[in-house]
Amino acid sequence: MAGRLDGKTALITGGARGQGAAEANLFAEEGATVVITDVLDSDGEATAAGSDRIRYLHHDVTNEDEWISVVQDVLEDHGKIDAFINNAGIYRQSPIASLSVEEYMEVININQVGVFLGLKHVGPVMCEAGSGSIINISSIAGMRGGPGSLAYSASKWAVRGMTKVAMGEFAPSGVRVNSIHPGLIETPMLHQLPAIEQGLTDQLVRRIPYGRIAEAVEVARLALFLASDDSEYMNGTEFIIDGGMIQGI
Ligand code: NAP
Repeated sequence: MAGRLDGKTALITGGARGQGAAEANLFAEEGATVVITDVLDSDGEATAAGSDRIRYLHHDVTNEDEWISVVQDVLEDHGKIDAFINNAGIYRQSPIASLSVEEYMEVININQVGVFLGLKHVGPVMCEAGSGSIINISSIAGMRGGPGSLAYSASKWAVRGMTKVAMGEFAPSGVRVNSIHPGLIETPMLHQLPAIEQGLTDQLVRRIPYGRIAEAVEVARLALFLASDDSEYMNGTEFIIDGGMIQGI
């Protein structure tokens, strides 16, 4: 049976584990050749070992030289990038009064500058080819603000805004840019939330109308849709996947 991404090449940052790894596995099952990048080398190699369609490269998204070499590497091996997921990210929790500039900048550098560098180095390659789908991973924290998440929220609002600018610049060249806004997703990052660390998962789940935390593969299915030609004409749009959480109950 034909895969939904047959013949396509995908690049996914932060793909060693969590949502990025789920996306890599699903994309590979659907026929894509996938390059995952991350700073967690052993997790990245382990994810790549699960499929002969997935390859791992070490890549810190805050480092522009590494972006240049990753993009060159993918183009040398595969000739093109059809789908790109700006996925790498970190979460840090701190009240504003005790948030250090160092911690704020760490989050901004990875979550915001990392996404900017991805747009800067992958966008033009896709524009030159005349097609491509860029998927920026924001969050429902890029639409609301929760106590203790100032740096994270600032970075995710920025990702939402950068998506609109990139969409306007790249659309005339046939490249689409959309953002995904996950709610609570079962990955290692989720376990950094204070409520989960303190064993108060039930309290959090009560705020989700659909009544449960999502699995990473559920976000991967949305990313698959956006990477595929099925989402042709969807551009500059915010895709919320949160079980209804931000609509509130
Ligand atoms: P995850 O399992 O922690 O995956 C994120 C990956 O990015 C990790 O492997 C992480 O490695 C890596 N990374 C961190 N800094 C990096 C850097 N400088 N360069 C390259 N890779 C780096 O978390 P996830 O839930 O899959 O997160 C994926 C995306 O979804 C993130 O953008 C996150 O903000 C977003 N998101 C997650 C949730 C959720 O509930 N899980 C909700 C909304 C949005 P380290 O271990 O070194 O950090």
